[in-house]
Amino acid sequence: MIVTTDALILKGMKYRETSRILTMFTRDCGKVSVIAKGARAQGSRFYGALDPLSHVRLVMYKKDSRDLQFLSQCDLLDSHRTLSCSIEHMPFGLAVIELLNITTHQDEINIPLFELTLQTLRSMNAATKNAVLALYYFEMKIIEILGFRPQLDRCAICGLGREEDEEFTMGFGGIVCTGCSSNNQFQVSRSAVEMLRYLQRAFSPKLALELELSNALKTDVGNALRVFLQHHIDGFRGLKSESVFASFG
Ligand SMILES: [Zn+2]
Repeated sequence: MIVTTDALILKGMKYRETSRILTMFTRDCGKVSVIAKGARAQGSRFYGALDPLSHVRLVMYKKDSRDLQFLSQCDLLDSHRTLSCSIEHMPFGLAVIELLNITTHQDEINIPLFELTLQTLRSMNAATKNAVLALYYFEMKIIEILGFRPQLDRCAICGLGREEDEEFTMGFGGIVCTGCSSNNQFQVSRSAVEMLRYLQRAFSPKLALELELSNALKTDVGNALRVFLQHHIDGFRGLKSESVFASFG
């Protein structure tokens, strides 16, 4: 079957003398692995269109019985060049596609997830600062798309919204009040909870970019999201890109 669809490039590796194997998240077929024959040869028709973070339109020969599909054509729609060339912001973009990669399975179609990722990368590409907040927006929304929307308005265990609590912990279902918390391992301040609520309500990563947060609060929000992701995503142990961007606050 010949398929034409939009896709985001997650990663690639060299194959044999001149080819590349790529993992892509397509709008209409979900995640696929494709082989781009001759992609590394001089004058290749794929030149400049196969870099991670890129938004492309591709044509592939797809056979459901095969794990590796044959890429016939790939046109670059947007390389998100500002993002991919920024030493400071690029790790956030890589964290987005890394998280997308570990939470998706081959051939599972998820158009809302495709749109969310595209919207996030576009916002990061246009961001002059705070790109990490677009990553937090993405983390909050991907959790929701995967079906694990955290309870942030009141304690996920007793259901009470105790106004006097200044500290919460992050649990399996969302925030947990001090009365119900059995450990103080994953503390989240009230200000961080307010930021998490804002991200949950926001309908665009652009709204996340407008926030002005201290570095301490950014770290708090990021940690709370990581803890929640670890509860729900098998094999999530923090992202490879995370250690790179830790230093950028
Ligand atoms: Zn409680």
